[in-house]
Amino acid sequence: MNYDYLVVGAGLYGATFAQKAKECGKSVLVIDKRNHIAGNIYTEEQEKINVHIYGAHIFHTNNTEVWNYLNRFTVFNRFTNSPVANYNGELYSLPFNMYTFNKMWGVVTPQEAADKIEQQRREAGITEPKNLEEQAISLVGKDIFEKLIKGYTEKQWGRDCKDLPAFIIKRLPVRLTFDNNYFNALYQGIPVGGYTQMVEHMLDGIEVRLGEDYLANKEMYDGMADRIIYTGPIDAYFDYKLGTLQYRSVRFENECLDIPNFQGNAAVNYTDRETPWTRIIEHKWFEFGKDSEGNDIPKTIISREYSSEWKPGDEPYYPVNDAENTELYAKYKELADKVPNVKFGGRLGEYKYYDMDAVVASALDFCRQELG
Ligand code: UDP
Repeated sequence: MNYDYLVVGAGLYGATFAQKAKECGKSVLVIDKRNHIAGNIYTEEQEKINVHIYGAHIFHTNNTEVWNYLNRFTVFNRFTNSPVANYNGELYSLPFNMYTFNKMWGVVTPQEAADKIEQQRREAGITEPKNLEEQAISLVGKDIFEKLIKGYTEKQWGRDCKDLPAFIIKRLPVRLTFDNNYFNALYQGIPVGGYTQMVEHMLDGIEVRLGEDYLANKEMYDGMADRIIYTGPIDAYFDYKLGTLQYRSVRFENECLDIPNFQGNAAVNYTDRETPWTRIIEHKWFEFGKDSEGNDIPKTIISREYSSEWKPGDEPYYPVNDAENTELYAKYKELADKVPNVKFGGRLGEYKYYDMDAVVASALDFCRQELG
């Protein structure tokens, strides 16, 4: 059988492309090395709770096209991400907002908070931030950097904040208002029934084969379709011939507890250096309203998240977009551009720290070029 498209990887990029291609009347085969669809947004139901197996994913976007597109396949609930930071038992609101500043400094008005940040920025003498540490101090001052950013970031990335790019911290909003909503996004939520069900709906009527390793049998697979959409790691495609791109990996320790409520929130970040995990996710709060306390389910499932350096064979999670890796990626990209009939897409194919909405937006853009 010869397909118009072979999509390698049943994650969000692959599923978006496959769905659109099918809608345009193309024949599509989707394969995935794993034994499930949905890539890293895969959720699995345990104890009536949808567990985010590869880490918490909270959908948020300002892109109406992407929002409307995904709403064809799921209903999003009203979940709003408002993590709590735990620094040695002191609790702070995230993202950085008036609640955080009040707790940290006792300031009451936005002007007092702004003055405090400005004073700490001046004391640090930073004019043009060159790295994450300088960027963070110039955004929120030294105290917040020390208590809420430094330890968490160094655990998360395994690198000193001075050796990390400034853009990572710009993901976090800083507000002089009382607003614990982590994302500056018009639309936000979690698919009711889990992400897996959403991707299942996207792939409805499309042939999907699981447990199939494209790279182990590339020639055979290449012969099956006119065009390939490859969403695996770009360096693996080229057998790592220019070297290995680095990732941060994450290890989860999941526990099912016989209590209805462990931490009262979906995410608690442990921002001190001593606690070995970066955060604890309590999955039920992604889908159950807190007013009902989700207490019709007497149990709860939590995941402690440990960040670790990646080595080949581990699950790659976060691309490390520092200078060295960015340069190596550019070289792989040059090779990729010369491979006829293969499109490299998604977080691993483009080696990019992508939010979910940006993955879908990029897939939809590509669909416009490719499918018209
Ligand atoms: N970050 C931090 N303290 C926190 C949460 C985040 O310093 O409590 C920093 C950290 O450097 C992290 C970055 O902000 O890598 C981006 O965080 P985000 O929550 O967006 O990361 P993700 O959810 O993608 O893991």
